[in-house]
Amino acid sequence: MTRVCVWILGDQLLHDHPALARAEELAPRDQMRVLLIESTARRAKLPYHQQKLVLLISAMRHYADHLRDQGYVVDYAKADTFMTGLRDHLQQHPADRLITMAASHHHGRALQADLGTALGMPVEVLPNTMFLVTQHDPYPQYAPNKRYVLENFYRAMRRNFRVLIDDTDQPLGGEWNFDKLNRQPLPQDNAPPPPLTFPPDAITRQVMDEIAAENRGVGSVDDFALAVTHEQAQAAFDDFIKHRFHDFGAYEDAMSAQHHIIYHSALSPYMNIGLLEPLPMIRRAESAYHNDEAPINSVEGFIRQILGWREYIYWQYWHLMPDLRHANGWNARRPMPQMFWDAQTDMNCIHHTVSRLIDTGYTHHIERLMIICNFCLLAGVDPAVVAYWFLTFYADAYEWVVLPNVIGMGLNADDGKTATKPYIASANYINKMSDYCQGCKFNHKARTGDDACPFNFLYWNFVIEHETTLRANPRMGNNVLGLRHLDDAERRRVQDQAHAFLNALVNYTIP
Ligand code: FAD
Ligand code: SF4
Repeated sequence: MTRVCVWILGDQLLHDHPALARAEELAPRDQMRVLLIESTARRAKLPYHQQKLVLLISAMRHYADHLRDQGYVVDYAKADTFMTGLRDHLQQHPADRLITMAASHHHGRALQADLGTALGMPVEVLPNTMFLVTQHDPYPQYAPNKRYVLENFYRAMRRNFRVLIDDTDQPLGGEWNFDKLNRQPLPQDNAPPPPLTFPPDAITRQVMDEIAAENRGVGSVDDFALAVTHEQAQAAFDDFIKHRFHDFGAYEDAMSAQHHIIYHSALSPYMNIGLLEPLPMIRRAESAYHNDEAPINSVEGFIRQILGWREYIYWQYWHLMPDLRHANGWNARRPMPQMFWDAQTDMNCIHHTVSRLIDTGYTHHIERLMIICNFCLLAGVDPAVVAYWFLTFYADAYEWVVLPNVIGMGLNADDGKTATKPYIASANYINKMSDYCQGCKFNHKARTGDDACPFNFLYWNFVIEHETTLRANPRMGNNVLGLRHLDDAERRRVQDQAHAFLNALVNYTIP
């Protein structure tokens, strides 16, 4: 009789986990044990946001109960490292075979690759089903020197999974992309309905107490109200479809000092640990279009985020690793400024974004891209340090999603492999898409001078310093052309003010 150990990773809490199905083929339930490991070393790797840890650990403990309710024997181990957890478990409960699912991240996969040798037993590592690109890779013949743009990748995924596609293989609504309808600022009198919250139950409260007692990470466990079960995550998704999906598209890029989540779904923390899965979400979004629950620009925009961006980012991660960790195409060396750790700054947009992040572990994508990364790129902050900061603060942050989004897309440090141009902007963009500038000490219109917005002189300083490189990028032509409005004296003022500002920045030192 074969005895099987199923090791389920903490960020793979799938409702129907493939390793369980595989184990059922090999052994009866009484010869099968499921193992979940809480590793203290993994948890202490970074000063993670306390709510991120509560989410992950509470969801793991709820998941263990969910499996027990289904009749599985589950061992929930607390161990220093995953290896000690595995070894201790197998010593107590010897098995003939270990089954697990491929980790989403590089170091996890490296550990799995050596597991058979390290444990001296057969180990089966199943394909990772949390991503659709595992089922269909649009570019199986990947060439390292070729550029693969999101738009073509996304169209191929839509065609393959038959999403928003008609019988002639053409996009429903007549266009592949409705982005031009999705750039509206939020009107002052528009009050988006807030997302569903979930009062902590006894398990979650216990985890909150444990994390608070450790007193280690950033943020606080107070006000934790995230979903920690499949049912709750599904309720959060249903609530989004019912109350926010309709206007998701129009205000996808809007930022607001009054409203945090606006019409976004705020579902990434659940998707990234397996509480929600992409294909059913995509199908539900598509049905909302057919049922007239949401317009095409919202439906296509949301589907592009999941079937396009999320899959593309994961796919890029696996092609660009391990070099991506150290990519630094703009040779940026500055430490992370202190204001990103404590929100203490007169720059209103950064103050708001970081304050909310400290409170909740979430900000939406434009704040990540056009406030945080925009500043860090213009200020020359070291990409690896920015990635460390993202991994620490965001509740949905894991290496596979942070490195391509931050080092690739946000900081354009991967020689344009993820994004074909650097996303840089002056205060003009921030003022257009938000109400932050209205309450700011700085003047969003001034390029230089005492009250000039730092985004302005940093932006022009960056364009001056990198003029040759930017000129060579066909998508950056207009930015460089703007330089003709700056005479030599203004160029000098821009550079002097930028250097003085950067030299005066208080830096955070990673302990
Ligand atoms: P919505 O706007 O409602 O979008 C729906 C879903 O699409 C998201 O839940 C997410 O699963 C997916 N999605 C959209 N864009 C991306 C993307 N670029 N990469 C991966 N998935 C995407 N996402 C993370 O999950 N974790 C991160 O650590 C993370 N870091 C980011 C850093 C930067 C600099 C940028 C520009 C983006 C980052 N993203 C990250 C992507 C995106 O910002 C978040 O997925 C999104 O803001 C989560 O909020 P939401 O669920 O309300 O998203
Ligand atoms: Fe941010 Fe500048 Fe606007 Fe102030 S003026 S909110 S610093 S963009």
